[in-house]
Amino acid sequence: MAVEKLTRQDIMFLMVSKCPICKKKITDEKKGPNFPFCSERCKLVDLNSWFDGNYTISSRIPDEEDENGEDLTK
Ligand SMILES: [Zn+2]
Repeated sequence: MAVEKLTRQDIMFLMVSKCPICKKKITDEKKGPNFPFCSERCKLVDLNSWFDGNYTISSRIPDEEDENGEDLTK
């Protein structure tokens, strides 16, 4: 009786994923070309941080949901 082994990719796919940049949960429908990032924005943030030669983000990248909202609290 053969037991099918799950590949690493299968396990990754079954797990609830979180974006490494903004820690947002990535649901199945959001898994796309930008996976494991939630969006192109986060993918670019990650890329840029490597291009800069260090892993610090100099300017705050607003969350996608805040894109249209100005920060009026200050
Ligand atoms: Zn993200």
